This record gives sequence, C-alpha cells and structure tokens, in this order.
Amino acid sequence: MSKAGTVLVAGAGGFIGGHLVNYLKDQGHTSVRAIDVKPPESWYQRHDWADNQVLDLNDLLNCRKAADGTCAIYNLAADMGGMGFIENNKAACMLSVLINTHLLMAAREFRVEQFFFSSSACVYPGYRQRETAVTSLKESDAYPADPEDGYGWEKLFSERMCRHYSEDFGIVSRVARYHNVYGPEGTWDGGREKAPAAICRKVIEAKLSGRNEIDIWGDGEQTRSFMYIDDCLHGTYNIMNSSIEEPLNLGSDELVTINQLVDLAENFAGVKLKRNYDLSAPQGVRGRNSDNMLIKQKLDWAPSISLREGLEKTYSWIYDQIQLRERGERVTV
Ligand code: NAD
Repeated sequence: MSKAGTVLVAGAGGFIGGHLVNYLKDQGHTSVRAIDVKPPESWYQRHDWADNQVLDLNDLLNCRKAADGTCAIYNLAADMGGMGFIENNKAACMLSVLINTHLLMAAREFRVEQFFFSSSACVYPGYRQRETAVTSLKESDAYPADPEDGYGWEKLFSERMCRHYSEDFGIVSRVARYHNVYGPEGTWDGGREKAPAAICRKVIEAKLSGRNEIDIWGDGEQTRSFMYIDDCLHGTYNIMNSSIEEPLNLGSDELVTINQLVDLAENFAGVKLKRNYDLSAPQGVRGRNSDNMLIKQKLDWAPSISLREGLEKTYSWIYDQIQLRERGERVTV
C-alpha cells in the first residue's frame, strides 16, 4: 500500500478506529480520512491532522463520498457493544450489514485497492462453545453456521460479501475475526461496555464507594480470551497488508474465567470484594478461545500481550476516567 494515498477509517470515532488512525500515522501514512456517525464531541479520540468527517455510512451516497479518492478502506463501523447490548439489539446489529455492503459497493466503483472488514468471534457456532473447558476455535469451525443471533449473523454474512466481491469483482478484501478487544479509550460505562472494562469499573466503584461488593453476570466460571488493543492494531495492519484471503482469527489464546478477570482487577485495586452472581443477566456462550495456529503459520506472529499487563493499563485509565467524571469533566463514554 502506498503510504501517501488516502486511507479511510470507517468508525474512527469508536474504540478501535480511534486507535487505528493514530497507528496508521505511526506507520508512515500521511493522509487518513476518519469517519463516524457520532457528533464530533462524542468521538473517543479525534486526531486533528486527519480529515475528520461525520457521515452515516448506512447510506450508499455517504459511502461513495467516503470512498472517493481513497486507496484503502478499514471498516470498523458497526452498531455494537458487549453482551448486554447485542442480546437486546439484534435488529440494530444486523443493520450494520448496510455499512459493509455499501462500502464494498463504493470500493468497487472507485477502484479502491484494499478493503478490511472487522469480523468477530461471534461468527462461531453456539454448539462449539457450550463448555467452559472449550476447544479453541479454528477458522474452519465457523461452519456449519450457527453464529450469535443478530450480531454474529451480520458478521458472517458480511465476511461472505467480502469474499464474493473479491471473487466476482477482484476487490482485495481482508477479514479478521476479533476476539474481545480491550484497552484505554474504549467504552467503559453506559451499557455497551464489554467484560474487561465493566469489571474494572465495578471494582473501582466498589473500592471508592466502600461498598466492597461486586455484581457479576453469570456464575463467573464462563471462559473467554481478551486481546489488548496494541496487539489488535498490529494484527489488523499486518492482515490488511498480507496476501491472506480467508478470514483469520485475531485474538489472544490466554483463556481465563470471568472470576479470574475479577481476581486481577481486585489485585490492582488492593481489595477483596463480596461477589454477587446474577444468573439472569446476559452471559453469551459458556466458553470461547482463539486457535492461533493459522495466524502463526501465515504471519509468523500472534497476539502476545498478557492479560495482566493489558488489564493493568486499562484499569488505570478507567480509574482516571471515573475521577474525571466525579469532577464533572469530559470522559470517554
Ligand atoms: P465501537 O462501538 O467503539 O466503534 C464502532 C464505531 O462505529 C462507533 O464509533 C459508531 O459510532 C460507528 N458507527 C456505527 N454506525 C455507524 C454508521 N452508520 N456510520 C458511521 N459510523 C458508524 O466498537 P469497536 O470496539 O471499536 O469495534 C470496531 C469493530 O470491531 C466493529 O465492527 C466491531 O463489531 C468489531 N469487533 C470489536 C470487538 C471488540 O471487542 N471491541 C470484537 C469483535 C469485533
């Protein structure tokens, strides 16, 4: 990819998109068009050197405006959140299909050289994720399909749309299946936050309020892996610039229970909390881990930042955000 050409980051006002704009600059890209539907004051990060635009990318005309004159598109725009959001907003999640489809149509029209789609581990079938001691999910496990209702079906459909645009129209598309990305400058409150940020926030609030209790969704024994944002950026950029045509897992393979996640956050806070388990709350699948054999084989690399290291940085950032909010200052939510 030419580093002088214009790169479009769709969803640049969100968590990963906001970081990616900066990462592209670090890689030597000099022209980035950053687009999000949110009003500018709600973007998690805004980089003044980029061409920041507010556009609703559900709309084909807006996707044409966004893609015109670009050489590469990273599609990170989606209406999404943690389990609490995706289990209760299936239609909204599925409507993101418009963003990816219209961006692909615009990419074809303007002969954009490269296209990246941010898929998700939610494409994997429920029947492979019923145990906590889960067998790590390899890419071929996505079929026969039984993805997460709503959000996962949209991701699986859009993966296939990328493939068909490549086969039929020669678009160079790349797809990464992200597994739980976390880090500073992400959603940490308000209903769309994911487990790492939610647990950090709850532990900090319990400590600061002196309540010394924490509410945990499920029995805490469900398992997951969590990828720190720096690994996500590195992997995304390398997948985009590789020759890998099939969807690739991009996730950590360090499997932990939610209880172990709480242990870590308690450790940073120096507290031990009473745990209240809410068995009626959304919990998602019972166990999920990323099989990283293919990415190691293809890229000679896999995410490696430990959960302890990444979560400690995230915890500190959320701690600061809570302090800012208490003082009535602007925070990232
Ligand atoms: P995010 O919600 O922080 O960012 C998504 C951004 O897309 C938001 O700022 C939102 O305003 C924007 N957006 C939504 N609809 C839009 C529209 N119609 N037009 C323009 N912008 C629109 O989410 P994120 O965590 O940064 O995730 C980025 C991508 O990665 C998403 O596609 C998501 O599904 C995928 N993903 C993320 C994770 C994760 O753990 N964060 C895991 C799997 C997949």
